[in-house]
Amino acid sequence: MTEIAASSPQTPDHRTDLVGLSRDALVAEMVAFGEKAFRAKQIWHWIYNRGVTDFAQMSSLARPLQLKLAGSYRVGRPSVVREQTSTDGTRKWLLGFGDRNQAETVYIPEEDRGTLCISSQVGCTLTCQFCHTGTQLLVRNLTPAEIVGQFMAARDSYGEWPTPDDGTRLLSNIVMMGMGEPLFNYENVATALRIIMDGEGIALSKRRITLSTAGVVPQIKRCGEELGVNLAVSLHATTDDVRDRIMPINRKYPLKELMAALRDYPAHNARRITFEYVMLKDVNDSEADARQLIRLVKGIPAKFNLIPFNKWPGAEFDCTPMKQIERFSDLLFQAGYSAPIRQTRGADILAACGQLKSDSERIRMIQLKERLADGVKDEHARPAAE
Ligand code: SAH
Repeated sequence: MTEIAASSPQTPDHRTDLVGLSRDALVAEMVAFGEKAFRAKQIWHWIYNRGVTDFAQMSSLARPLQLKLAGSYRVGRPSVVREQTSTDGTRKWLLGFGDRNQAETVYIPEEDRGTLCISSQVGCTLTCQFCHTGTQLLVRNLTPAEIVGQFMAARDSYGEWPTPDDGTRLLSNIVMMGMGEPLFNYENVATALRIIMDGEGIALSKRRITLSTAGVVPQIKRCGEELGVNLAVSLHATTDDVRDRIMPINRKYPLKELMAALRDYPAHNARRITFEYVMLKDVNDSEADARQLIRLVKGIPAKFNLIPFNKWPGAEFDCTPMKQIERFSDLLFQAGYSAPIRQTRGADILAACGQLKSDSERIRMIQLKERLADGVKDEHARPAAE
């Protein structure tokens, strides 16, 4: 494992950040700034295809325009508070966003692809009982700039600019599976993903993007219709009883409604829905559960992803023994479903599923203590669950 310490804190910059504006918003911004609309197209290319952050390097713009732009705008990036690389090549960044909030982003290299796991919120309001992120102190939505910024910061780290051709990309796939519930922050996530999919910039295909949700039923259809990305659903239980207990969101959107929404998911090209299923010893891992799972997903083009539970300090669950996970996987496979067991990656840097936040929390606790010592009352703070 290697670790690179924090970059120096950025000086506050009050210029408007052009990153995170939709294509239309950038056009409107340039027109309001007294420039022709086509400038937006040029600038878009520099920002998202070339990765340029300095207007002086935008060589298709005349020098006076470069200077004028630099007076009012910036091309922002989250600051890299810490970068860690696992012995297995997984890389994790703790990124800082202007207001001292932080989120984590993880890169997982595999033989045929490289997947970036992006966060949608600082912390998470879902409080799934097995997930560490839900115990985080403060929560807020990430902005489009902060969501796209995670991808851009990761690209910076590997020097992957300009945007390479498909097939040669190091960062070839995105999963919205980091901290937070993306469908609770739908508008910002949608704006960010549209920027990432835009053919004249980062140009990542919707087929290479997967959004993972705990089951925010009212937003699922929109996500399919408007974005057309792959959908993953954190199912984790086969009955409302168990799911109510381990995932409180189920009390609002129970299994019946969730499955109905998934049956209707606009599957443009018959892509399958991924069901994530965390293996919790004696909670959801029996053969009866496997059989019930098969009944539940009937009629939905589905595949499974079995996730060995990653334990964290204070967690009340244990992971199902590997032999039993394999048996569970076999049962699903025999029913005709792909059901691989997700390999734990980046465990030595706490980058695995459900582990995101631990490090940032430690830093945040220190910050909170500092603030409290300064006599600043923070009304949003709630005590950590551990
Ligand atoms: N809120 C979204 C995005 C988070 S994805 C969602 O729920 O889908 C993160 C995935 O890791 C989810 O499937 C989550 O349930 C799973 N997870 C959370 N804690 C875990 C743990 N301790 N071990 C293994 N997987 C976990």
